[in-house]
Amino acid sequence: AKAQGPRSYHFYTRDLDEQLHERMQLEQAMRRGLERGQFLLHYQPRMDMRDNRMLSMEALIRWQHPDWGMVMPGRFIPLAEETGLIIELGSEVLRQACLQLKSWQSSGRPLLPLAINLSPREFHQTDLLERIMGIMEEYEVDTRLIEFEITESAAMSSVEQTIDILSQLTRMGFRISIDDFGTAYSSLNYLKRLPVQSLKIDQSFVKDLANDPAAHPEDAAIIRAIIGLAGNLGLEVIAEGVETTAQRDFLLKHGCPVGQGYLFSRPVAAAEIETRFTA
Ligand code: C2E
Ligand code: CA
Ligand code: CA
Ligand code: CA
Repeated sequence: AKAQGPRSYHFYTRDLDEQLHERMQLEQAMRRGLERGQFLLHYQPRMDMRDNRMLSMEALIRWQHPDWGMVMPGRFIPLAEETGLIIELGSEVLRQACLQLKSWQSSGRPLLPLAINLSPREFHQTDLLERIMGIMEEYEVDTRLIEFEITESAAMSSVEQTIDILSQLTRMGFRISIDDFGTAYSSLNYLKRLPVQSLKIDQSFVKDLANDPAAHPEDAAIIRAIIGLAGNLGLEVIAEGVETTAQRDFLLKHGCPVGQGYLFSRPVAAAEIETRFTA
């Protein structure tokens, strides 16, 4: 045991050094990637599951790195949050979303609302509203075409501030939805005070219903409770992570007609989502 001490200590610090080095590399690469326009948006449809109509879309960021290929947000959003780079990244996302909406508008396509994710740090940034308005004015896009998704945990972390920010965003014309709903144990008392339009049922609850919903009574009960709650509060509800027809049928049967997931489409590039626009 005595001999192990220093050795494991040594391994431990080397691992930490390596991790630190990796993080610094990633951060630098992200800054460079931002300068060089390597970040792009993919789009995933939100469907009316009753008739397979696309109602709106969610924009999801990807990083097209010259050596690493397509990097998914789970790999870089957490570090962007920590380092503050998320503010620049968030601006880039909103700018690209505006440009895309304008391009769809000028090509005469039907304009569907676009949902954009706001990370917790972005959401609580002091000049969030100025930053957003600056971009909206620069690109002259109708605010009613944009919805912001904020996670339940971010929304609940300081409720008075959240209500204030959301009220202002709502007054500007934006729509708001609560992402990953059901994972943060919100107080219902707070929920009813939030000026939001929809709740997105977290995919973890939808996941286990993939084949046999009856085999997962707890998840089924939570989903039915969220659908009921949304109905009682006058909110729309969107199910995430719909991959199978069994999940779709369960959701339809229990009063949730709007869904998003691989059953309908993975998030895809703009050119591909355009082929789905035809009504
Ligand atoms: P999220 O906002 O909860 O997004 C849903 C994630 O589930 C996306 O992963 C999406 O591709 C994936 N997904 C969609 N349908 C299905 C399905 O049927 N099955 C399964 N298993 N997964 C499905 P993605 O694109 O990797 O994004 C992961 C997370 O990264 C997002 O979770 C969001 O928190 C964050 N993120 C993505 N884009 C942005 C962005 O532009 N800004 C910020 N701040 N965060 C973003
Ligand atoms: Ca989302
Ligand atoms: Ca989500
Ligand atoms: Ca999530």
